[in-house]
Amino acid sequence: MAKLTFLGVGGAFTMKHWQSNMLIESHGKRLLIDCGGDCRFSLAEQGLSAKDIDAVYISHCHADHIGGLEWLGFSRYFSPGPKPDLYINERLSDTLWHNSLKGGMASHQGILLTLDSFFSTVHRIGRNEHFEFGDSTYQPIQTIHYMDGYEIVPSYGLLIDPLGPRQECFLTTDTQFCPNLLMDFYQRSRLVFQDCETYDLTGKIKSGVHAHYTELKTLPPEIRAKTWLYHYNDGPLPDAKADGFAGLIAKGQSFEI
Ligand SMILES: [Zn+2]
Ligand SMILES: [Zn+2]
Repeated sequence: MAKLTFLGVGGAFTMKHWQSNMLIESHGKRLLIDCGGDCRFSLAEQGLSAKDIDAVYISHCHADHIGGLEWLGFSRYFSPGPKPDLYINERLSDTLWHNSLKGGMASHQGILLTLDSFFSTVHRIGRNEHFEFGDSTYQPIQTIHYMDGYEIVPSYGLLIDPLGPRQECFLTTDTQFCPNLLMDFYQRSRLVFQDCETYDLTGKIKSGVHAHYTELKTLPPEIRAKTWLYHYNDGPLPDAKADGFAGLIAKGQSFEI
């Protein structure tokens, strides 16, 4: 059994809901799912700090998902005790270091550092591979987040316990609305935690890089009924329950998974 807590449920620019980072607690160990720029504050709201994190999973390299890694990395680097583990897709780890973290973390006072300097083990997850944490299995699921010119830039969601005795839970992380790609995972899951943009509830203005609420409303009723929405915007929010969803996740809300 594991407990999944949403430290935050907002989009990248939120001033109200904290960025969409989550915490898994299982067998006394804590796995942070993404570590955005405001993560130290959302963790503090749960009475936690850098020293309480045993491992981190990174879905993709936007700052609302990795902007707190310099804080976490240096906090633990200069503290006694073991460093956390890092779980990341093997295709993301170089991008994370060379395009994002290296500028601030490549050295300190004459000592050269790499991504591996800040973690006990960097688990580079290969294509179709999974990892274990606590008593659960975590299967990364590639989703389409946006196009970089002519190339897809994915995020890696998580199917939790794809092989276990319980039915699995699907955490999309950031994704466009891709029902043809994701329907199998929606159907087989007991609970779905879905990226949901609410910036303009009429749906006329969409970022194009997140599933918009008006798009998600077109999912079949049996999928909506088990789907919890997060990564929403500050501003007016829809009545998700009235539209057949399980609901909007509140900041700090937990689920037994
Ligand atoms: Zn995001
Ligand atoms: Zn993103």
